[in-house]
Parts: sequence; C-alpha cells; structure tokens
Amino acid sequence: MSSNTTVDAGTRRGSASPRRLLVMGAPGSGKRTQSGALAERLGLAALSTGDLFRAVMTYDTPVGARVRDAVGHGGYVDDETTNAAFDQEFRDDGFRDGFLLFGYPRTATQAEHLDQVLAQDEVVLDAVVCLTVADDTLVDRLLGRAAELHRIDDQADTIRPRLALYHRTTEPLLDLYRERGLLVEVDGTGVVDEVAARIDAALRRDA
Ligand code: ADP
Repeated sequence: MSSNTTVDAGTRRGSASPRRLLVMGAPGSGKRTQSGALAERLGLAALSTGDLFRAVMTYDTPVGARVRDAVGHGGYVDDETTNAAFDQEFRDDGFRDGFLLFGYPRTATQAEHLDQVLAQDEVVLDAVVCLTVADDTLVDRLLGRAAELHRIDDQADTIRPRLALYHRTTEPLLDLYRERGLLVEVDGTGVVDEVAARIDAALRRDA
C-alpha cells in the first residue's frame, strides 16, 4: 500500500465498522503507531494505559513514584493502580460511542475488570486485533526506540524481561479472546502502511 489516502478510501465501512476494539501486541509490535492511525480511520477515541502512565510518572506523588518504579524496572504497574487509572479516564463521554484500547488489558485481572466495566455499560467488544512480531525483531525495534526516544522502559537490560513478561502474562489473554471469537491476528512486520492495510483487510474479513 503506497499511501495513507489509499488505505483511508478503501476502508471506511459505514455502520459495519467495528466500534469497540482492543489492539494487543508485545512491546515494540507497533501498537501505538497502528492504534492511533486505526482509531483515526474508524473515527474512534483511543486510550492507552502506557500513555496515561507516562503522564502519571511525572507526578510527585506516591502513585507517580509507584508507576516510575514499575515502568523503570520493565515490570507492569500493579492491577489496582492500572484499573483505577483506566476507570478514571474511561468515564469520559468521548468513549461512549466507541473506543480503541491499546496496552490494556495486560493481565487476567485487568481483562476481568474490563469485562465488568463493559457489562455495566451493556456493551461488548467487536474485535481484538493482535499484532504478531518475532522476538528478535522486537528487540531490534526496541533498541532503536531507546536510542531515539530515551524511554526509561526501553533499556537493553529490561527489553528481554519485558518480552518474557508479555509472553507469560499478557499472551494468555489472546486465548480468552480467541475462544470468544474476537481475535484477529495480524502480521506486524513490514512498513507501517503495509501493516495498516493488513489490519483493515483482516477486520473486513472478520466483519
Ligand atoms: P510497551 O507496550 O512498549 O510496554 P506502553 O507505552 O504501552 O509500551 O507501556 C509502557 C509501560 O507502562 C509498560 O512497560 C508498563 O510498565 C506500563 N503499563 C502500560 N500499560 C499497562 C497495563 N495495562 N498494566 C500494567 N502496566 C502497564
């Protein structure tokens, strides 16, 4: 696919478009890049706990310190803090009409919490997109991102443990969503436009 314009024109699907989406994938899989662009194409509000935490990390508060510590060590922020941060943001009316969540949920407890929140609102997920990328490629990408963006979580010594944490704790959630018939697996390798086109095609097939 050569340009975003082409992707846009081919993928607006009117009322058949998914309105409630998760985008999952390991660190470095392209969640942020693809989620932002997909949310725009579908006209959905996007929410990322990673982005929320980057703001919280700057706070001179106990929660700020907790989040800095977890992120800096390549771990996950605890479920209670994460679910509370999610709830606070997700209350916003902007998400009532549809949403794209990425980087949340990452644990079974968070997935259960999301189920409860959505059940209260009497809505269900339409699809869960997972971007698949081999670990060696992820490591290369994360090392590149560390050099470029100076993120405290993208240091050489925390990258492998973060990937292991993803495989151990977050990947099992894919089975849950697969069982529910929601999982849409997309090859996340290649250039941004190529992956975007794959996501659009996979969602069309899934509709
Ligand atoms: P990545 O997907 O590369 O880890 P993010 O920007 O999504 O990048 O997240 C940055 C960091 O924020 C994570 O490494 C983790 O420490 C923390 N974080 C983000 N979302 C969650 C979550 N749902 N649960 C626990 N920790 C999270």
